[in-house]
Formats: sequence, C-alpha cells, structure tokens
Amino acid sequence: MKNQIAAFLIITGLSLSQASALEPRRPPPHVENELCKKASVSRIQADGVSGFDSGKNYCAEPSKNLPMNVLGLLKKVEGIHLKIASLLGSTLEQTFVRPVEIRIEAYSSGSMASYASDEGIHLTVLPSWQLSDFASMVYAHEIMHYLSLNPGSFSRTIRGLDHHPFFFEALPDLISTAIFDSPQMKVGERELPTCLRIQRDESPIKSLKAPFQNYYAFAGSDSVLNCCAKLRPSDFGDLAAKVCRETKDDRSEANRARRSAEAEKTFQASAYTDANLQTSFSPTQCRKGYLGGVTTLENCDFHQFAHPLVSFFFRLKKLTGRPLVSSFLKAVRDRSETSVVFDCGYVRGTRDSGDERAQVALRPLLPSFVALRESLGPLDQKSFDQAWKEHGMERFVDLDHLFRTETEEWEKRFAVQANNSLYNSRFHCENSANFAQEACRVSCQIVEKKQR
Ligand SMILES: [Zn+2]
Repeated sequence: MKNQIAAFLIITGLSLSQASALEPRRPPPHVENELCKKASVSRIQADGVSGFDSGKNYCAEPSKNLPMNVLGLLKKVEGIHLKIASLLGSTLEQTFVRPVEIRIEAYSSGSMASYASDEGIHLTVLPSWQLSDFASMVYAHEIMHYLSLNPGSFSRTIRGLDHHPFFFEALPDLISTAIFDSPQMKVGERELPTCLRIQRDESPIKSLKAPFQNYYAFAGSDSVLNCCAKLRPSDFGDLAAKVCRETKDDRSEANRARRSAEAEKTFQASAYTDANLQTSFSPTQCRKGYLGGVTTLENCDFHQFAHPLVSFFFRLKKLTGRPLVSSFLKAVRDRSETSVVFDCGYVRGTRDSGDERAQVALRPLLPSFVALRESLGPLDQKSFDQAWKEHGMERFVDLDHLFRTETEEWEKRFAVQANNSLYNSRFHCENSANFAQEACRVSCQIVEKKQR
C-alpha cells in the first residue's frame, strides 16, 4: 500500500525534477559535515517530529554538535548504504554519486506515504517517531528508486530495464530483503497488527501460476482490506483503524475511476471480473492498450511481482545453500550494454517548444537469468531449474517478452514527455485520451544496438 503511493510519487518526482532542469541553476549546496559525508548523505531534516528541530539541516552542523538521535540515524543509514554498495559489487562513492537528502516528515498515518525522488528520500512518520521506529526495509526499498533516478552503479546496472514490470518495484524489495536476509518486508509501525505490518511470509512458494487476483492492480489494497476484515475490534488501535478506513476510501475511489474508464472505453484490458480474477495468472492480463498504439502493462500492480521474485531467490538460497542475489545483479549489469538505444523526439516539436530529444534504452531481462544459471555448477543448475519450475517462471518469460515488444511506444513517449514539460503541459500528451493525436506523436532512431 505504502509502496503503491511511493511508485506514484516517484513518477511525479521524475517529471517534476526534469522540468526544473529548464530553470536557473540552484545555488551550490552547503558543505556536509564529516559524518554525513561518510554516509553519503547531504541533508537530514525532520519536520514536526519530536526530538528534532524542524527545518534544520543537521548535515550543515559540525559533527560534534549532532544530537544522539541524528548520530544513530546516520549510523543506520550508512550501514544500509554500505550493504547496498557491496551487493552491487561497487563502492559507496560509485553507488552514491549524488549524496542523499533525507527528509522525515510527521504524518498522522505513519510510514505509508514514504516516497523517493531524484533528490532523496521522504520518510513519513508518526509525530511521536523515535529512532527505534526507523523502517530500515522501507528505507532500503526507497533508496533503490532514488539510485535508479541518479547516475551511479545501480542505474548503470538496470539500464534498459528501468520500468520492467518484474523489476521496477520488485527489485527494490529483493535488494531490501537480501541485505536484511529476510523474505519478510516489515513495512508498518510497531503498533499495527501483524497482517498490516508485514508483507510476505517465509514459507509457501509464491508462484506466477497463482490467480490473476494476486497480480491485478488492486491486489495491494485487497491484502490490506482482507487483513482489516479479519481483525477483531480489540485489535484495532487508532492507527490500524485509520489505515483501514483510508484504504477503504481509496479503494472505492479507484473502483469508481476504473468503472468510468471502462464505460468510456479509454483503454482495452482484461476485466476485473470474479471469473477472470480467479484464473491462473497470464501476463497478457497485464496489458492495457490505449488509442494510438500505446500499451502499458499496468493492468497489473508491479509491487506484487516482488512476491515471486523474492520467493524465487530465497528458495534458490535454500536449495543451493548460498545467496545468489549479488551474482544475479552482476549478470544484470554485465548485459546492460546489450540494450537497444533509441533517440526520440516529438514529431511536431518546434524550436519554441517540444524539441528536446530523449534517449530510451530497452532490453529483455531473461538473458540475465540465463547467464546466472550458466554461472552455476551442474548441481546448482538443477536447483535453479527446480526453483524456476516451482515459481511458474515460464510466465516470467512471457511477461518479459511483452515488456520488450509491447511497451516500447509508451517508453519512448514517457521519456520524451519528461524532457519537454512546456510542450507537454500545452498538449497534455501524458493523458491517454490524447495518445492518438498528431501533436503527441513521437519518432525515434536507433542509435545503439550491440549483439552479444
Ligand atoms: Zn517502490
């Protein structure tokens, strides 16, 4: 639930930040103190949170003046940053080329609205927040979004796969669970009941052959609402009641929006009927086709693919006796140069507006899984094949194929939109109703294609 909000805001954050590139440069940032610099952090600011001075950037203070809660936070954050760099087979400096701004903001619903932008991490917390409430796994998830939006070893690793449905939200979870060595994601406040607080359990294998219901766009709110329905009145604290109420309201609104879009035939997609939701998942159910030949895979919730991806690697670890996430990331990085790169622009862009071009890199993910398998000895390859089968990963092959063949047009438009904010606000090319308009048409040339 929180991550869904996060994903939405990440996309907003991307276009907003790219828009600001047109404005005069910001003044150079202050010099961080030694401890912040060591942790690759350029700002720690907490607003409305007890024990912190609101508005103060603690990284601009001399290290010797930092209060204990800030010192403790820096230590936790530095530890996470180091673990991420190590998992990527990289250094802290190569991973965190741009130091992170951390903003902690009091919010009455707690951590559920945390998000990342290209500048840093916004952690929403209850006003009574203390360092012991720091949601390490949420931070680790969000920091991967931040890294994907900035230069450095992570964005190089995932080049061509940025919006891959099996990666965009699932890879941050895989990395978070790998560095904390637990398939469970602890995502909520301590006072919440377990089923609201912890995503995923250890044991059952999460297969891609599960019903479509597990992957459709409302699967995240389903799991919250199912939890809420199971709670006894005595389980409800104020926070749980608020989370349940807000999720219910958001869901009603989402249902209403979906029904009206279906009535207006804005898109073509697999319907969310009970019969459909109970069929075994097929990647084509993720297709959302718009006018003008633009297709996304957003009839599914990409967060839900973290279940099979995390489950696959923990199963593999159990079968082979060793963690393979780092080797997998290496296989992903090794193939980043195989991306096809397009140079794209608006067909109707003029010198006044809409003439900024954008580069789009795309590649399939399957070859990296194949390379990981090939890097293993014969016994471990057998384990790989077993885990692959148990997780219904042949459906990942289809999903990967859809990503590469059907979402290319959307990828190109998204990149061009982000670089042409003036033109975009004039012609509203991000609005699916305008996808077929001539003003929104994009043309591209291939600039790079290496075969390997
Ligand atoms: Zn996310």
